[in-house]
Amino acid sequence: MKTTLFRIAAAAALCVASVASNAQSIKLWQVTSGLLELDKGFLTAMSGVGTKVKAPVTMHIIQHPRGLIVFDTGNNVAVSDNQCASYWGAGLCGAFNIQQSRDEVIDRQLQKLGFKTDDVKYVIYSHFHLDHAGNIKMFPKARHVVQNAELKNAWWPEKFQRAAFVLKDFDTTRDFDFLELSGDFDLFGDGSVVILDTKGHTQGHQSLMLKLPKTGYVILSGDAVYTAENEKGVVPGITWSANESMRSIDKLKMLRDTRNGQLWYSHEPAQYDEHKGKVFE
Ligand SMILES: [Zn+2]
Repeated sequence: MKTTLFRIAAAAALCVASVASNAQSIKLWQVTSGLLELDKGFLTAMSGVGTKVKAPVTMHIIQHPRGLIVFDTGNNVAVSDNQCASYWGAGLCGAFNIQQSRDEVIDRQLQKLGFKTDDVKYVIYSHFHLDHAGNIKMFPKARHVVQNAELKNAWWPEKFQRAAFVLKDFDTTRDFDFLELSGDFDLFGDGSVVILDTKGHTQGHQSLMLKLPKTGYVILSGDAVYTAENEKGVVPGITWSANESMRSIDKLKMLRDTRNGQLWYSHEPAQYDEHKGKVFE
């Protein structure tokens, strides 16, 4: 009798242990929605103006016990395979020269990892510019996590900010399930997925800090930090507020340094090449 009870207890303990380890398993992939070829001055103010550079458009897929997450959805599917002008128009296509194949769009990137768009429970947006919120309409069943200030500004931007918000990316999404934030927010209350207010690039820009079981802290900056040069102090070229942008860069660097974490940029070719094809756990 005692032996049987012991066996039942041991089996129960094993079961609890396997559930616990499963609950901690989080996986992160960085993928791209093609490349933008653009004037370097868009990324770094007063530095390299007039020089064309190629920049990856990063997106992130996060497998989490509380549900599948996408952080940024890339450029709209309609600009794939040299069809840019029919959707963005000549001005934006000329400024950003998008080079995106259909296979690089977020739905196909999910497919390559064995997921469907309907599997995604949370879509988190750094901001609503054309290369980040382009495919919101692919996720009608998800909960969309964005700063309230960003929603308001995307729908009616300041005149000087208007070009990079493509209204038809999100014009039919007003009844989507939005989690509208005002500042920092710990999504699941356990510190594993923390949204950070990093306004500056836009009025409601946010970054994402993940705590991965093996890798530790990974901070996905979004366009708060386009490239390593911005981290070193070069003001980003496109910004709503230079002052807020620089304060946000400092905030992300402090979080990285005090947590021995990593800071991932949004449009830095060298860093993307290091992450490409890898899974971070
Ligand atoms: Zn961007």
